[in-house]
Amino acid sequence: MFAVGLTGGIGSGKSTVADLFAKRGVTLVDTDLIAHRVTAPGGPAMPDIAAEFGASFVASDGSLDRARMRALVFSDENARKRLEAITHPLIRVETERERQQAQGPYVIMVVPLLVESGNWKTRVDRVLTVDCSVETQIARVMLRNAFTREQVQAIIARQASREARLAAADDIIVNDGASLEALDLDVDRLHRIYLSLAAA
Ligand code: ADP
Repeated sequence: MFAVGLTGGIGSGKSTVADLFAKRGVTLVDTDLIAHRVTAPGGPAMPDIAAEFGASFVASDGSLDRARMRALVFSDENARKRLEAITHPLIRVETERERQQAQGPYVIMVVPLLVESGNWKTRVDRVLTVDCSVETQIARVMLRNAFTREQVQAIIARQASREARLAAADDIIVNDGASLEALDLDVDRLHRIYLSLAAA
């Protein structure tokens, strides 16, 4: 199945754009949801996480203790790598399975860390980056998540740069001060292109 990797920094508008494609009958494969599922109660990553990090990282319901793991990997790059060595292959298998099973003309894979992690660019047929200024990202995420400016800036600092995401893109949607109607038109234009590429 023809796959478009949709990426963008936090607050750029990935979910908003993904929903506009879904409205047109395109199947979404959401890697954040999949990542959550592999560490949910009974999730396939949980036995290895318990073995690698200890039972204290497993919550009472059998899911990952997210707050505890977040605190660890925030300050310990090696721990982050050990965690990703467990989760990434499982996320990869699951995303490929969803792609194979998808209905509709093509799939949009929503991959927030497409530029940051692994060989995503080679796994999709096309990369679509949603772009906006850092100031816009900060304003949106402060509003959406009730975060402070400093909290949003810390997240942005750990993500790839705007330039790196633009450099990886085949297509770009500029979502800075754009109305939802304008976004809808952009999605319409790209949807036509993807339909013909998927059919080719
Ligand atoms: P991401 O998935 O990239 O983190 P979202 O799609 O969730 O970003 O957008 C972040 C926030 O900004 C959401 O609350 C969303 O409704 C809002 N938003 C995104 N694009 C626009 C826009 N063009 N106009 C108004 N609000 C927007």
